[in-house]
Amino acid sequence: MSVMRWKLRNDVWIDNGLEFFGCLVERIQSQHPQVVQVCWEPEALVVEIHDTKRFVELLDEALQQQIESTLFYISEKNGEKRSLLKPFVGFNQQPPKQHPPLYQDTQRFEFLQKVLNNSTLQKRGENRGCPLCGEPLVGGVELTLSVYPFVTKIRALSGARSKWVDKGLFGFTQYLTVCHRCYFLGSLVWADDALLYLCDIGGSDGYAVVLLPAPMEGNLKHIHEVKSSYPQRHGKRRTNVRFKQTRDWQESQESDVWEGPYSLLLAFLEQTMDKIASQVTGEVQRRISEGWLILSIPQGRLKSVSAHNLILDAPTLQLLAKLVEQHTLPYADCLSEIWVTDEKGKRLQDFVPALHEQMAKAILTNDFEQFAKAFVPKPRRQLRFSFSVESTVENIVNLWRWSKMDAQALEVVKKADAHWQKLLPAVSNPCYCTIWSACALLPTCWRCSRKAFTDSWVWKPTRCATSRWTL
Ligand SMILES: [Zn+2]
Repeated sequence: MSVMRWKLRNDVWIDNGLEFFGCLVERIQSQHPQVVQVCWEPEALVVEIHDTKRFVELLDEALQQQIESTLFYISEKNGEKRSLLKPFVGFNQQPPKQHPPLYQDTQRFEFLQKVLNNSTLQKRGENRGCPLCGEPLVGGVELTLSVYPFVTKIRALSGARSKWVDKGLFGFTQYLTVCHRCYFLGSLVWADDALLYLCDIGGSDGYAVVLLPAPMEGNLKHIHEVKSSYPQRHGKRRTNVRFKQTRDWQESQESDVWEGPYSLLLAFLEQTMDKIASQVTGEVQRRISEGWLILSIPQGRLKSVSAHNLILDAPTLQLLAKLVEQHTLPYADCLSEIWVTDEKGKRLQDFVPALHEQMAKAILTNDFEQFAKAFVPKPRRQLRFSFSVESTVENIVNLWRWSKMDAQALEVVKKADAHWQKLLPAVSNPCYCTIWSACALLPTCWRCSRKAFTDSWVWKPTRCATSRWTL
C-alpha cells in the first residue's frame, strides 16, 4: 500500500486540477474501494493506493471516458461524421501527436505510471525545485501553454514584459520545467466539466473564454464543496452553460449563453444558486465561489492568453441570492430578453451582445450606474422588451437600490420619477425613468447624456446646460 499526499499549490489552475483529480479518484473508489481510498484535507488530497497497477488501469479508463464526453463534439461534413476537439481547448490547433500525453490514448497509461511513481522527484537536499510545488526535481517536463495557459513561448510576451491591458494580464513566464505531478494536474484541468466555457465570441475565428472558480479561501475542501454544488452540464461545442426562463418553466426551451464571459458567469451563478436554494436553506452564499479566474483564449494560431480575476463582493452575492429567492433570474428572465431595434423596428443584432455584457458586468461588479446607462435612449436605437421583462427590471432595481433607501429619500425619488414620466412622454422606455430615479445621482440629461444634477437627492426642475432641454 502507498499513501500519496498531494499538496495544494495555491495556484488557481493547478488547484482546480487537484480538486478534479480527487473527484476522479472518488469515482473509482465508489466502485473499487479495495483499490483506492481518498481523503479530502484543507491543504492536501490524501490518496491511499492498495493496488497501484489496477488503480492506473482504472484511472486511465475513467480519463478516457471523461475526455471523450467533455472535450469532443461530433461534426458532420458531407455526410461524414468526425469527432473534433472543442475550440476552447488550449491544444486544439496542434496535431494529435503533440497533445499532452494525458489526451493521447496510446500514451496515457505510461504517463500515469510515471506520475504515480513520481520519477522526476529526487531525494530531498537537491537544489533545484519544481517551480509550482517546490518539490526537488530532476529532469522534469516542459510546461507548455497547451497545459498551463499562463506560460508562453513567445519571448516578447513573457516575463518582464507582462503588462495589464483591457482584458487582463498579458504575457506570462516562458515555458517552465516542472515535475510530472504538476504537469499532470495542469493538463487535467481541460477535462474538468466544472470549468465554464464559451467559444466563438466574435465569430468562429474569434476567441473563447474559460472560467474557473477561485474561492478566496484557498482550501481544497472548500473548493471541492463549491464545485460539487454545480449543476450537471453536458456541454455542446460552443458552451456548457445553458439557461431557461423561470416563467413557463415547463414549456420554455433551454438556450445557450452566447454573449461573453459576464453573461456566462451570471447565467451560471443564478442557476447554481437556484439549485442550491431548492435543496438547502441558508447555504447559498457559502457554496458560491466569490472569486473567478477569467481566461480569454484566441481561437486562431497565436495562442497568447489573457487572464483576469473577478471578485464578487458581498452585496452582489446578496442581491443575486435575493433575486433567486424571488424566482427572478436576472440573466434568463431579463437580460436575455432585451434586444435592440432601429426607429423603424428593425432588429439590430450587432449591438445586443455588448449590451447584455454591459448589463451582466454591471450586476456582477455592483455598478448600478453602468446598469442604468444601458437604458439611456440613444439616437436611432431603441431598447425592446416585453411587459414581463419590465416588471423584472423593476424588481432588480427595487432590490438593488430602493430597498436600501430610507423613506425620505425614496419619497424624493418617487416624486422625481412621476415628474419624469409626465415630462417625457416621448421616452419609449418607461423603465428608463424608474432606473435613473433610483440611481444615486440622477445624473444625466436623457437627450445629451451629460451630467444634469450634482446634488444627490435634491430634485430641482432645471435646464440642461448642454441640450437646453427643460428637465
Ligand atoms: Zn511540481
